[in-house]
Amino acid sequence: MEELSHKFFGGIHPHDGKSLSENLPIQVLPAPEKVYIPVSLHIGAPCEPVVSVGDKVNFGQLIARAPAPVSADVHASVSGTVSAIEPMLHPNGKFINTVVIENDRLDTPDPSVVSHADEIAADPKALTDIVRRAGIVGMGGAAFPTAVKILSGLGKVDTILINAAECEPYINADNRVLIENTAEVIEGIRMLVKLFELPYATIIIEANKKAAIEKLREFIPGDNGDVRLKVMKTRYPQGAEKQLIQSVTGRQVPPGGLPADVGCVVFNDYTCWSIHRAVKTGLPAIDRVVTVTGPGIGRPGNFRVRVGTPVRELIEAAGGLTENVNKVIMGGPMMGNAIYDLDVPVIKGTNCVLALTGSEDKSVSEPACIRCGKCVSVCPMHLIPNYLYVYERKNDLAMLQKLHVTDCIECGCCTFTCPGRLDLTQSIRMAKGRLNALKAKK
Ligand code: SF4
Ligand code: SF4
Repeated sequence: MEELSHKFFGGIHPHDGKSLSENLPIQVLPAPEKVYIPVSLHIGAPCEPVVSVGDKVNFGQLIARAPAPVSADVHASVSGTVSAIEPMLHPNGKFINTVVIENDRLDTPDPSVVSHADEIAADPKALTDIVRRAGIVGMGGAAFPTAVKILSGLGKVDTILINAAECEPYINADNRVLIENTAEVIEGIRMLVKLFELPYATIIIEANKKAAIEKLREFIPGDNGDVRLKVMKTRYPQGAEKQLIQSVTGRQVPPGGLPADVGCVVFNDYTCWSIHRAVKTGLPAIDRVVTVTGPGIGRPGNFRVRVGTPVRELIEAAGGLTENVNKVIMGGPMMGNAIYDLDVPVIKGTNCVLALTGSEDKSVSEPACIRCGKCVSVCPMHLIPNYLYVYERKNDLAMLQKLHVTDCIECGCCTFTCPGRLDLTQSIRMAKGRLNALKAKK
């Protein structure tokens, strides 16, 4: 039975496009000849390389260390030789220091890759450090360091939510991980429940993930165990952390606040699988499942690839691009970023590579606001996107701050709904970038 949600404000029901790949099992791609691993694979401070050109490295070896509390260690996704460390194009459009490793095709495991199961059995609190050392980040796309999230909630929260909503159209990475690794995901959740010393955690899933719900029901027969299930009506952006919390608990995270401020902590289901693997096998975050899809992809599918694999190789494995592709996006159509160089690497947060063709491109040469107010009515953060757009054009940072531009979660609802075809989200993203740059200078 679908549960009625507490309503979060706004939201939309876009075409979800998930049928292109939702029933396709994850294929494991062979590691490429070279991996390109940026020292910034997460939200937070970039890491500092601890290897040099010419060094031999093992599979899973630490290659760049987190210098600050909000950061996540980076590990070698293949064994081989470091052939370069230099700035290279990152999927975020910036040039970031990148460790290039020539794959020796041996996958020689690093001595640090050992099971931590006994450690956890003796002391559930050891989990935070294991997660930190494994460089695990939020695998739903946000890539926020998971150890930091754990620490932000320990001792402060009464509710653990496991986000399996994956509400962004076209993407099936979390969904396939959940279907194919249900037991491991649930084990990972149980480790978190013990760590937080709470009675249970609740998996939140949207009603359109029927196969995953069926699979979860096999493992969660009742509603009084340490892992529970809540099926919500489908609505975008329900998977955004603040909206998820409001939908399930009715609590509203204050502007600029954290989930812990309202007693909640939220983990993605794929992150729970990564936690389980790090504990059982000692493997850090060296690969990820990516949905490669869209009308512009020859054979859409879900692929497990090593971090640092060039997107071009991933697309080739999925049958290449069709002739009429006009945009390739890393992420989904709502929150993803267009990429202009297919040689950028897969990073920890890459959940999707989406190729769109001309028929989906709604941009026009002269976008114009007709003052319909639709963007305001769909904004889940109660913002006024049309005004934000105007002040971004004027570069009026004071007004943008007054209008709480930094509260924007970049969900894309405003752009999606705008009949005047204004790219509101992109303009707001740029405004936030300028404000962040200003803050960094101070
Ligand atoms: S202003 Fe931001 S939060 Fe509001 S709809 Fe647009 S992208 Fe989403
Ligand atoms: S939805 Fe577009 S056209 Fe309508 S008010 Fe907002 S910016 Fe203007």
